[in-house]
Amino acid sequence: MATYHVKYNELQSQAVSLQNMGKTLASLESRLNTIAKGMDGRDTSMAALKTQVMQCGKTVPALANKVSTSGTTLTGIVSTYKNAEEEKARALAALKAMLARIGVVGGILSGVNNDAGYKVPSDEKLNKMNVDELENVRRRISDERMKLLNEFFEFDEKINRLKEDLKKYGMSDEEIAAIVGGVLGLGGIALTSTPGPGTPNLLDLLSGDVNRKTKDYLKADIKNTENDINKLEEIKNKKEDVIASMSSKLTEITNYQNTPQNPLGENARITSVYESLRIRDGKQYLHAGVDIVGSNEIKPIKCGTVLYVHTDGKEGGNYTANSGYGREVVVQHEDGSISIYSHCDSTISKDMTGEFILKDNTLGIVGSTGGDYPAHLHLEIYNGIPGPPDPPNRSTYGTRINPTTMVDF
Ligand SMILES: [Zn+2]
Repeated sequence: MATYHVKYNELQSQAVSLQNMGKTLASLESRLNTIAKGMDGRDTSMAALKTQVMQCGKTVPALANKVSTSGTTLTGIVSTYKNAEEEKARALAALKAMLARIGVVGGILSGVNNDAGYKVPSDEKLNKMNVDELENVRRRISDERMKLLNEFFEFDEKINRLKEDLKKYGMSDEEIAAIVGGVLGLGGIALTSTPGPGTPNLLDLLSGDVNRKTKDYLKADIKNTENDINKLEEIKNKKEDVIASMSSKLTEITNYQNTPQNPLGENARITSVYESLRIRDGKQYLHAGVDIVGSNEIKPIKCGTVLYVHTDGKEGGNYTANSGYGREVVVQHEDGSISIYSHCDSTISKDMTGEFILKDNTLGIVGSTGGDYPAHLHLEIYNGIPGPPDPPNRSTYGTRINPTTMVDF
């Protein structure tokens, strides 16, 4: 019995195991069924996807075809645009060439060459110009201003030379300043300059005109330069007037200074004429100049440069190497001629040699040095061109001239 009992128990236990296995199998079957159902759904999705992909496959060539067609169209448009641009550039070049020809012809017709000044185009024209054209205008007008400034230097040099000349002929600084006024240099005017163009702001960028600032700058600079030129022209005219006044004054003064005067004043008279017969130390000779009496102060017959001062003369009856002439002053005039003032009681200092003297400068005091005679001035004149002595002359002073042919006595 016991054995059956054991076997029953074993069978019972195996039955439970089998039941459990059945449950597990059922559970597995259920899960498999679920999976299988899921698999079914996926198949459906895959099939749908496949259909879509196949449809896309058909659509892509159609799209590619469309893109290709669009590409051809775009190429066509670009090509047309490019041709149009080239056509425009050719037309512009032809127009510019034509305008240039018209400009040249216009210049020839009006007789104005390219150097005869540059006129700034009207505001309306300036507003229509691009950066390059504006830059071109600016360069030309700047050149114009530079040309004027160079002329200023030339005018100032002329004025300074005239100042020196007028001073040489005895005009005082005050008198000169009264003529010159304030026209030297820029005559007190300030030339304007425009600050640089800066960078375009957002507004410029949005409006698509990134050059607007540059254009505004160029236009402002053109206007300022034009303004400068107007101011400079005005002063240039004043400078020309000053130069004319100074030149005319200089002519007036030099004419006066180069017109011979009687060295002893208007009431002076000749006491011994030119080339009268003389006898000294038993020898005959011709009087080489004229003897004059009048004022005591000796003036030069005209302005000139002191060539020589002979301060050595007869002292206490002694004759020197300059025997016969005594103390004398030699002056060379602007035309080269030379005048000699002899027998002076006293003369200007030897230091005056090389100095420029005017008609109202005193050369010395009338005396009788060099001989035994009443005080008088012995005046000799030479042409200043050294050459064969005919008639006999004093060393290198050139040919002797009759003083009465130069001076009214
Ligand atoms: Zn004499």
